[in-house]
This record gives sequence, C-alpha cells and structure tokens, in this order.
Amino acid sequence: MKLEVIRTQNEQAKPTDESMLGFGKIFTDHMLTIPYKTGIGWHNAQIRPFENFSLSPACMVLHYSQTIFEGLKAYHTDNGINLFRPWDNFKRLNASAARMCIPEIDADFALEALCELIRLEKDWIPRSEGTSLYIRPTMIATDPFLGVRAGEEYLFFVILSPVGAYYATGLKPIDIYVEDEYVRAVVGGTGAVKTGGNYAASLAAANLAYTKGFSQVLWLDGLEKKYVEEVGSMNIFFKIRGELYTSPLTGSVLPGITRDSVIKLAQDTFGVNVHEERLSIADIFAEGESGGLEEVFGTGTAAVISPVGGMQWEGKRISVANGDMGELTMRLYDKLTGIQYGREKDDFGWIKTL
Ligand SMILES: *Cc1c(COP(=O)(O)O)cnc(C)c1O
Repeated sequence: MKLEVIRTQNEQAKPTDESMLGFGKIFTDHMLTIPYKTGIGWHNAQIRPFENFSLSPACMVLHYSQTIFEGLKAYHTDNGINLFRPWDNFKRLNASAARMCIPEIDADFALEALCELIRLEKDWIPRSEGTSLYIRPTMIATDPFLGVRAGEEYLFFVILSPVGAYYATGLKPIDIYVEDEYVRAVVGGTGAVKTGGNYAASLAAANLAYTKGFSQVLWLDGLEKKYVEEVGSMNIFFKIRGELYTSPLTGSVLPGITRDSVIKLAQDTFGVNVHEERLSIADIFAEGESGGLEEVFGTGTAAVISPVGGMQWEGKRISVANGDMGELTMRLYDKLTGIQYGREKDDFGWIKTL
C-alpha cells in the first residue's frame, strides 16, 4: 500500500500558552485515514487535512458500537521525537480488532504511516515539562446498515492532540470511590479490549463517584465484586509491606502498556517484588487499617502514574501515604517519564525515535 499525502491549505495557529492545553481539546492540521472494504481490504492510505467525516446516520458504529481505539504519546526531546512502545499499541489494536470482529491492519505499515503524520505535525508537539502529543488511532464500522452483524466497511483513522498534564490538579493524589454496585467488565466480555462501549458503560458510576466528591472509581471484579481490577481507565497497583501487587490479566482487565512497563521497572530496575495476583478489597482495607498499605497508584498512558491518596468502600475510609505521593510511586514516575522524554537510558528498548 502507498501512502498519499495531501497537505492543508490553511494551517491553524499553534497554541501559544502550553499551560492551557488541557487534554484532548485541540487537534492538529492533519489526520491519517485508511478505509477498508470487504473484497478490497485496507486501501487508499492518506494523510490529509483534519476535517469532519461524512457518514450515513445509519452507519453501524453509531448504533452498535463496533469500534476500537488506542492511545499513545509522542514526546519532544533534545534528540528528536520519542514514541513509547508504539509496537505494543498496534499489537493491542489488532488484538482488540480480533475480539470486535474488525479486520486486522498491517501493524508495520500503520506505524510507519503514523510516523509520517507525526513528522509532518512535528511543530505541534509541545515542549514544556509534562506536555506531549497524544495520538488516538481508531477503527469504526461505517456500513450504512441497521442489522446486527459485523461491518463490511471500516475506517481506520489517527488524530493528534497536543496535551498538557492529564489532571487539572497536577500530580496531586486522587481520592477514589470503590464501586460496589456497577461493574466495568466480566470475564468473557470486552473488558480487556479498548472498545467504546466499555467507556459509555462506566459513565454512570463515574458520575456517581464525582457527585460524592471522588475523582475516580475503583472497579471490582464483575462476578463477586470482591477483587480489585482497575481504577477509572487505568490499571491499579498497591504497595503492601514493601511489595507491589496488581490484578492479573484475568480477561476483564485491560492489558495496559504502562502497567507492563511499571512491572518491569519495579522488578528489574528497582528490585521490588511484583505480584500479579487477585487481591480482595477487604484485604486491602485491612492492610490500610493496620498500616501495611503503603502506596496506591493508577497507571495509563494519559496520566502515566496517578497516585491515590484515599479510598472509600462501604462507608469506610482509608488514607494512603497520608494523602501524599508515595516514595516508590515517585521513583517509578520519574524513571518512566525520564525514559519517555529521553532523560534516562532506555534499557528495555521501549523508545522509537523519529
Ligand atoms: C487504556 C487503558 C488502560 C491503560 O493502558 P495503557 O496502555 O497503559 O495506556 C487501562 N485501563 C483501561 C480500561 C484502559 O482503557
């Protein structure tokens, strides 16, 4: 497949105040699109001006959510543009595609096309501390058809957004609400896949937690509502008496690339034992009350590492690390962002430099 490049005739002004970027509000001048049609396959790859799509109101994704997405970032560094483990995002995109009956894409071609797009938009990558260019690859079913079946036409597209720090409050520890009524995912469902419906289904619980004064929901397993799985749309880690614990990839947990990176850094670089084990919320609260629970943090591309300062479950409250950022949380954050921004040595071969 060839990649055609159509440049915009009217470039937008780039944001001048990088402290006002926020997250996912501003988009660059160009996007990548590759349509698919049964019988033809993925074809007609284009980098072209960012603009609204024209889609039939009957288009399948609008009704039945046959859609998947990814999220990764490009970082401005002194030695070029860094992408963090982009191969893994395209691998996971294809794993999501398989689960959602979307045809897989040539991951190498898609990544190369993305790199072309980023090179074209390089002046959109913000430069101040904590900022980056967020990359959103997406696939949607576009057939105008109201029957429930897998689509025969799809669109793969990638849009780019210069972003500041994910949380408006910066790296301040968040207060989380342990959700004991709604569930995010069940084994056999789509919890391990980045598909739109998962996020629509999570909104009611998020709103409820928000009205109670919490910024994120801690999700328990969908069957027994006993074991911790994720926090908001991040994976979650607990440091208990010097060792790290996180949910295993049970099928209802999203296999986060940040999660995997934190496991490797903690184990290989910092020599901390990491257990991928089911951990009950009752045990965590017991450790919290007896002083064994030392640190809690979420991991994900958008926020990287998000410290948790307090948790509430069934009316009980525990505070974590006195509401501060834990020592290991801080070291992991510094190391991981250090690698991403090219300040630290890339011992694991995670960086692709453009
Ligand atoms: C994307 C996502 C994560 C984090 O994955 P990363 O690859 O680390 O960004 C965790 N949980 C959910 C539900 C997600 O959608």
